[in-house]
Amino acid sequence: MITFDTPLSHIPTIKEQSLKRLERLGLFTVSDMLYHFPHRYEDYSTISPISSLIPDEKCTLEGVVTHIEAGQTWKKKMFLTEATLEDESGNMRLIWFNQKFVAQTLKEGTPIRVSGKVSRDNKGLVMTNPAFERSSREAVHTGRLVPVYPETAGLTSRFFRWQITGIFQKLTIFPDPVPEEILTRLHLPSIKQALFSIHFPKDEEHQLIARKRFAFDEMLFIQLKALELKALFETAKGNPIFYDEQHLVQFTASFPFTLTTAQKRASQEILTDLGKTRPMNRLLNGDVGSGKTIVAALASFAVSEQGFQTAILAPTEILARQHFESLTRIFANTGQTLALLTGSYHILGKDTVTRTTLLKAISAGIPHIIIGTHALLEEDVAFQSLTLIVVDEQHRFGVSQRARLQELAFNSLDGSEEKVPHFLSMTATPIPRTLTLAFFGNLDLSLLDELPKNRKPIITKIGRTALDREKIYAFIRSEVSKGRQAFFIFPLVEESLAMKDVKAAVAEHSHLAETVFPHLSIGLIHGKMKSKEKETIMKDFHEKKYDILVATAVIEVGIDIPNASIIIIEEAERFGLAQLHQFRGRVGRGEHQSYCFLIPHDTSSGVSERLRVLEKTTSGFEIAEADLGIRGPGAFFGTRQSGMPDIAMENLTNIKLITIAREEAKNILKEDPKLNSHPLLQEALKKFEEKIHLE
Ligand code: ADP
Ligand code: MG
Repeated sequence: MITFDTPLSHIPTIKEQSLKRLERLGLFTVSDMLYHFPHRYEDYSTISPISSLIPDEKCTLEGVVTHIEAGQTWKKKMFLTEATLEDESGNMRLIWFNQKFVAQTLKEGTPIRVSGKVSRDNKGLVMTNPAFERSSREAVHTGRLVPVYPETAGLTSRFFRWQITGIFQKLTIFPDPVPEEILTRLHLPSIKQALFSIHFPKDEEHQLIARKRFAFDEMLFIQLKALELKALFETAKGNPIFYDEQHLVQFTASFPFTLTTAQKRASQEILTDLGKTRPMNRLLNGDVGSGKTIVAALASFAVSEQGFQTAILAPTEILARQHFESLTRIFANTGQTLALLTGSYHILGKDTVTRTTLLKAISAGIPHIIIGTHALLEEDVAFQSLTLIVVDEQHRFGVSQRARLQELAFNSLDGSEEKVPHFLSMTATPIPRTLTLAFFGNLDLSLLDELPKNRKPIITKIGRTALDREKIYAFIRSEVSKGRQAFFIFPLVEESLAMKDVKAAVAEHSHLAETVFPHLSIGLIHGKMKSKEKETIMKDFHEKKYDILVATAVIEVGIDIPNASIIIIEEAERFGLAQLHQFRGRVGRGEHQSYCFLIPHDTSSGVSERLRVLEKTTSGFEIAEADLGIRGPGAFFGTRQSGMPDIAMENLTNIKLITIAREEAKNILKEDPKLNSHPLLQEALKKFEEKIHLE
């Protein structure tokens, strides 16, 4: 007997080699296999008579093999099997290349069903490499909507169809985490039906209903998790912070600018939350350059004035360091001590100290504002009175890390008399409303939908031709001669490709330095460099030691170089719009008119169409909506990165589904807050969490 938890290694039809490949796909158990969904289907649902065939059409035929022979092709390069298929209306040829097993499986007289595309050559109609099966068997590979799986690691769709069919034959128990009552009410299929229909749908409709079921499950889990966190915060005791209006006004007056209306509104919302007896849990959702740092500074000012500590978390050392420096300036006249704690920096006020000294100071409550990377979350870091946690660029932390951050925040001060810190996350990727509801259902929201008034909108152009490129180079030379600086961005896509990308950036750097701009000084920064090294280069660029900086995607996060007014993004099509918008935000931070040139290497019309959104608008929120429409929520939370299953991702825009799932989650938790009487759901939720923690 097999169950959902049976390891695939116990399935006799799966051989050692396939097992290894399955493992590489992250598939270890029967349930993993069943949840490995097809990404599309071929429609072979009607059987055509041979006489009715038209070349270039996909079809399914049923007949008998009347002739079969196999051998090397004349060039001896390929193994070729040729057969004749006959039905009542006529006959035609079937050809397979390099599939020796075909000749071993099919004999003259075998009744078969084949599916594939018909073509015509000089000998007549022929079908090449068709999927086939004996027609006495129940149709698995042909004769219906045939599932097509993402073919990775050398595992074919045929393999998956076969194995999954086998599993369905042996599996008897399909534990369903969702109570039957809910399924009935929402007209959703059971897990067994849904799993079967997603692999082998009778028709389009069955397939869609199955997807709906899985989308509902994922969304229900997300909402249960969000509500659980929300409840945690609601029942928790916070440390209410009452600010001194007078001091706050003085502090604000020391800024070299006046706050935008949006900044004022967000600050007010945050200050109000801080005054409550339950901890704040808020997301500051603002466009790049909208001035989130100063809002966080105001909140930490209020907290530090009462003698309590704020921790500000940044995703990278460079960014942490930059925050430390700009906040040190902002707080210069307040008498507050700031600290910086990352893997390689331990700074207290003006002094570099040892980690031990810094940790001691933090636990003694000497610095009130502590800036750092995830190094701040290490176990031996103890605060004296941590009252506010600010997470900058929180989207860089990934969905699960964020959840973990909240839990850490919660646990760090958990205890009978202790208070849970207020929590403020900030994101530089404007997130569409629908997504905030789906993903951040546990958070309150403040929007910074307005840029400071002195900004000149960045002019964005797409460079399509070699001539465009020449013009852009000429333009750079002329801007540099006026004292400006430029970024060149080369794509860095995945961690594993980093080395290749680094090489590309290095090569491009020398090309630009030697051939294109021999008279300019050009720096290079990439993800494989050490923090210190990167920082030196950024510093040199800041001090205008370079005219141009060639970079992989590392400069994405918040670096401020006010004198840089041009950014060129190569292979722009490899980035999402929201990310391109982020890059673009690296310029336009000073008084100069700034420019962004997008150079796609793929110049097809679809690509240009997508990039044109950036030419048309500089509103991060509009771009985010467009990105959501074009690429789906993966644009905001890389599927891999977030660990979100595809189906849930597809459905994150489905506001109705989200609303329903949220209602159901609320109802379930109202009756059974710990899910004690829903053991299967509890277990599924735990598995789901593990899955999204896998990063
Ligand atoms: P982001 O929201 O992208 O994190 P920052 O907080 O880094 O933006 O702010 C971008 C720049 O705008 C900084 O140089 C900051 O000093 C400046 N800035 C912030 N608020 C204002 C304002 N109200 N008026 C003018 N400049 C501002
Ligand atoms: Mg920022």
